Amino acid sequence: MKNYGIIVHGGAWDWPDELDAQKIPDLTHAVTLGRDILARGGSALDAIEQAVNHLEDAPTFEAGTGVPPNRNGVAQLDALIVDGKTHDFGSVAAVERVKNPITLARKVMEETAHCMFVGAGADELARELGIPLIPNIELVDEKSWRAFVERDESVLKPQWGKSQPLSHDTVGAVAIDQNGNVAAATSTSGSPFKPAGRVGDAPLLGSGGFAMNGAGAVSCTGNGENIMRLLLAKYASDKMAEGMTAQQAADAAVAYIGSVYPNPMTGMIIVDSHGNLGFASSTPKIAVAWTDGDSIKTAFRA
Ligand code: ASP
Repeated sequence: MKNYGIIVHGGAWDWPDELDAQKIPDLTHAVTLGRDILARGGSALDAIEQAVNHLEDAPTFEAGTGVPPNRNGVAQLDALIVDGKTHDFGSVAAVERVKNPITLARKVMEETAHCMFVGAGADELARELGIPLIPNIELVDEKSWRAFVERDESVLKPQWGKSQPLSHDTVGAVAIDQNGNVAAATSTSGSPFKPAGRVGDAPLLGSGGFAMNGAGAVSCTGNGENIMRLLLAKYASDKMAEGMTAQQAADAAVAYIGSVYPNPMTGMIIVDSHGNLGFASSTPKIAVAWTDGDSIKTAFRA
């Protein structure tokens, strides 16, 4: 077995190639943060939380800060973290005042008796758990806000399957630590300019993410409606439980969703319980970076 490994994603979609270069430093830094934790014997959970925190803070991606608002001009964030060792998870949806929803999701898992909080209750819980609340506008990306104010229809009504001028970047991470524990995290602002209250796959266990020791860990991205209808992360995990490697499971899951929907616009990253990493997508682009202890690699196509 490989000693440890981490792979992160910054969304799967179609975006102009010029944007790739802007994404590399943050993807690489996120992997470095996770790798340093894993290399010194830290947990997969700590590694993915730190990696995703960095991607949430990077304005390049549409999670945490720097996100498009919904149709009412409000940023609403979703996140999920899954612990493959305890088979526990924490999840938040439609959060409006928290900079790092993945950290709130982890606190839901570890500091409450519950698994999922939504809306104003999730923000209120954040305050109670010591996470500072910030004004919603501080989460919103300036270019997206301008498009919203100017009612730019080409941006306000993006279509699944069409290239996005403003990119489209959920973030996620999966890792295995030196004790063989796996974990998964996914964080997003959902589909850009979504209707208020719309929640996608990202915060849903088995859809936007899944992790189970002995099988592996998965984080999905892309058209959330298709992913959640098929519980795609759980599907990929089941394939690993049956003996597939991370890459085989990723390919099988993308083939499965492609057999149900003509243009599923889906991507995922995976680690299996042997420490193999994999990723696949049915989209023109997927932003990924990874390491299994050696150098850090990045890719923008599956
Ligand atoms: N899966 C996310 C959602 O549907 C969006 C994405 O990953 O691009 O909310």
